[in-house]
Amino acid sequence: MLNIVLFGPPGAGKGTQSERLIEKYNLVHLSTGDIFRANIKMESELGVLAKSYMDQGLLVPDSVTIEMLRSEVSKKQEALGFIFDGFPRTNAQAAALDEVLLTFNTSITMMAALEVEEEELKRRLLNRATTSGRADDGDISIIENRISVYNKETAPVKMFYQNQNKFISINGLGTIDEITTRLFSAIDTKLA
Ligand code: AMP
Repeated sequence: MLNIVLFGPPGAGKGTQSERLIEKYNLVHLSTGDIFRANIKMESELGVLAKSYMDQGLLVPDSVTIEMLRSEVSKKQEALGFIFDGFPRTNAQAAALDEVLLTFNTSITMMAALEVEEEELKRRLLNRATTSGRADDGDISIIENRISVYNKETAPVKMFYQNQNKFISINGLGTIDEITTRLFSAIDTKLA
C-alpha cells in the first residue's frame, strides 16, 4: 500500500493537492477536517463536539479524533492506500496511526510536508473564506490561533517521521501545477 501523510499548516494547499494525488495514485482521501465538517452538517453528537473546538481554531481532542480516524480506516478495507490530510496533528495521533495501520499489515510510506510562510498562509485563508463558507477561514484571530496551534502542537510531528526517514519537505509556493509536479516527483522517487 502507498500511505501518504500530506502535511502542512492551514492554507498550505493540502486539500487541493490531495485531489491530484488520489487521482494519480488511486488512493482513498481521509481528511479529518472534512469528516468533522460533514458531522457538523449532520448535527451529529461528534459534529457538535468538534464544532466547539473548530470555531476557536483549536484541535479536537486526540481521543475523539483518533477514534474517528480508526473507524474511517476500517471502513476502507479494500483501499490501495491512503492520503491522510490534516491527520496526524499531534505526536499521539501519529503513534495511533502507526498502530491502526499495523492492524492492516501496512505503514506510512512517507510524510510530504508543504512549506509555506505565515503571511502567505493568512492571505490564502482570507481569500479562501470568500468561497469556502468556513467560519474559521474568515476571521483573522481564528486564523492566527490555528497557525499558532500548528506551530506548537503539530509542527513537531515532522520529527516523528524524520526519525523514521520518511519525511520530505516540499516547497508549497508557486502555482498549483508546480506544487503537484514537486509532489509527484517526491513520491515517485520514494517509490523507485
Ligand atoms: P482542516 O480542515 O484540516 O483545516 O481542519 C479544520 C479544523 O478541524 C481544525 O482547525 C481542527 O479544529 C479540526 N481538526 C481537523 N483535523 C484534526 C486533527 N487531526 N486533530 C484535531 N483537530 C482536527
